[in-house]
Amino acid sequence: MISLETPKKFGMLINQAHQVATEVFRPISRKYDQAEHEYPKELDMLAAVIDGMNEGGEGGTGARGVRRDTSQDTGNRNGTNMSSVLSIMEACWGDVAMVLSMPRQGLGDAAIASVANDEQLERFGKLWASMAITEPGFGSDSSKVTTTAVRDGDDYIINGEKIFVTAGGRSDAVVVWATLDKSKGRAAIKSFVVPKDTPGCEVERLEHKLGIRASDTATIRFTDCRVPAANMLGSPDIDDDKGFAGVMQTFDNTRPLVAGMAVGVARAALDEIEDLLAEAGVKVDYDRPAYAQHAAAAAYLQMEANWEAAYLLTLESTWMADNRKPNSLQASMAKAKAGRAAVDITLRCVELAGSFGYSENSLLEKWARDSKILDIFEGTQQIQQLIVARRLLNKTSAELK
Ligand SMILES: Cc1cc2nc3c(=O)[nH]c(=O)nc-3n(C[C@H](O)[C@H](O)[C@H](O)COP(=O)(O)OP(=O)(O)OC[C@H]3O[C@@H](n4cnc5c(N)ncnc54)[C@H](O)[C@@H]3O)c2cc1C
Repeated sequence: MISLETPKKFGMLINQAHQVATEVFRPISRKYDQAEHEYPKELDMLAAVIDGMNEGGEGGTGARGVRRDTSQDTGNRNGTNMSSVLSIMEACWGDVAMVLSMPRQGLGDAAIASVANDEQLERFGKLWASMAITEPGFGSDSSKVTTTAVRDGDDYIINGEKIFVTAGGRSDAVVVWATLDKSKGRAAIKSFVVPKDTPGCEVERLEHKLGIRASDTATIRFTDCRVPAANMLGSPDIDDDKGFAGVMQTFDNTRPLVAGMAVGVARAALDEIEDLLAEAGVKVDYDRPAYAQHAAAAAYLQMEANWEAAYLLTLESTWMADNRKPNSLQASMAKAKAGRAAVDITLRCVELAGSFGYSENSLLEKWARDSKILDIFEGTQQIQQLIVARRLLNKTSAELK
């Protein structure tokens, strides 16, 4: 059974992540928010430290920590999914855009860790990989992929356009979703690791955005882009929906990570507003009912409860991943709850802090902008709710759209 205590063995990792958030991310947060598209070079040293930890066998310090443990050990475990999520929460307390900009910690790395075989993990495990699913013709409905991958001897030739690729400009490789045969629907959709220096793979432009401005978001075009067949993740068979279920399985591991990001940024806003309220003489008392307290303290208590629910759902979905339990339902619940909670909490904190909260003298307004994406990418709020409804009502995606 899940224990709600933070596992003691992760204490040091959590402290380190908090220290990085405080001493590295926060001081440069505003600078790179204003210098959109400029790479935060301060991240290089940090990425090297994380690489060292991964190579030292500590694992679980980032995107690669989502690989599911296949050992036969049946005991209750808190593994690399849990340590990844807990450290990401702390790091995002510092700055979510910095976390999304960390070299070799892309969503493509999480996809590789989730579904690559051992040989592919050896070849691609050290790359910085972004994830390219979205196209101009679709976002939410990932079964609508039109980018094609056509077999030619020992290679596949990829053609198509991908948009809104996080870290797409800076990464070394892209995990591209493409169809082997449009007439065969979702069963024919596969993912391919495409190194960015492959001829025919071209970054066309970077987006200007509301938030997470330190993170680059790219449009990438693939024109007759030839990659070895061995770069396909998962099975090449187009038999049934199992193949698509395989690529979708990545989300069971990455949605708890994104939920963890939302929990982290919401915590940052809560901690900041608690300090501001204390400076203004408003003390939050957990032992007295909200109605008997200052309106701002009552608002804080409500936000704290909202945050706690998001935190617990995130831990649950992560713990299930570590314990090899099917967690699609819980991963979507966590993502839906945490994404919405982060948006609501950060915006409410801006409101409570008045004009100071809205100004660039405070990071509150930045966190309110940054948090919105966490309710959009890796499946929007509405899509998570749809998945939850399908699971609870036992309906297929054709029955409940
Ligand atoms: C900053 C940023 C970074 C991103 N990074 C990546 C990335 O790294 N890789 C990648 O592949 N993509 C990425 N995306 C794309 C992101 O995943 C999509 O934006 C998201 O899936 C939504 O797709 P869409 O924008 O086309 O909206 P749509 O799918 O057109 O949806 C529009 C609205 O309709 C709602 N909606 C859609 N279908 C339904 C339904 N059936 N029922 C109810 N409501 C519905 C949606 O919730 C949304 O509110 C990124 C986007 C942004 C903005």
